[in-house]
Amino acid sequence: MPLIVEKKPEVLITEDGIRTDGRGPLDLRPVKIQVGLLSRADGSAYLEWGGNRVLAAVFGPREVHPKHMTLPDRALLRCRYNMAPFSTPERKRPGPDRRSVELSKVIREALLPSIFLERYPGTAIDVFVEILRSDAGTRVAGVTAASLALADAGIEMRGLVTAVAVGRVGDWVVVDPNHDEDQWGDADIPVAFLMEEKEITLLQLDGPMTQEQFDKALELASQAADLIYEVQKEALRRPYEAVRLEILRRGE
Ligand code: UDP
Repeated sequence: MPLIVEKKPEVLITEDGIRTDGRGPLDLRPVKIQVGLLSRADGSAYLEWGGNRVLAAVFGPREVHPKHMTLPDRALLRCRYNMAPFSTPERKRPGPDRRSVELSKVIREALLPSIFLERYPGTAIDVFVEILRSDAGTRVAGVTAASLALADAGIEMRGLVTAVAVGRVGDWVVVDPNHDEDQWGDADIPVAFLMEEKEITLLQLDGPMTQEQFDKALELASQAADLIYEVQKEALRRPYEAVRLEILRRGE
């Protein structure tokens, strides 16, 4: 099998702020979301974000296995992030590794404050995030899809969680880093917001930034999250609109 050697682009961002994929510093990659496409799951969402393809499925509230993990006063929230072997440029060895264990924890903790777990005592809510194709930013794509899958499952929530990454490339703060920027940029900050209150439920900083750059990055993340939130809400409305149309057609 040929080894894929990635080359650092000569210029990550031009003096005019043009990025390797042609975007400006503030531009998001296109986001498309579909909800409720897995009939065997209680809730699901499929998300395309740039080159990322992410499927999230929710099962629950359901019986807890193994039984000893049951929590008497609230639901047990479990989360699994998994990258398909074909999701990366080089085949990824199937099964969990350190990164996927960490990302499962990160995604779970980003979602945790949004769910009224105490309304489902003694049950389990299982969230599966499957990365079918990865193109930088899979954890934020995973959180964004998983929150919608929870809503689609009818789980009672304080509100949706929306996640987006911002980064630094030289002196530029950029929204939604692409693969080149993720790989060779100077800093990467995934952020998740509980959108009702704009409460931050995930914030990671990977690389140095000045206070000023950090403040700007957070402000841009908040603005970008507002845009993605609109796409999420639209995706939730769509299946119900289809049902309404169906009812209208039947003349009820
Ligand atoms: N990646 C990869 N192989 C791996 C892990 C990651 O090709 O085993 C790529 C993938 O495109 C991913 C990117 O590196 O989106 C950045 O990974 P990171 O760990 O920063 O997480 P992410 O940005 O996806 O949340």
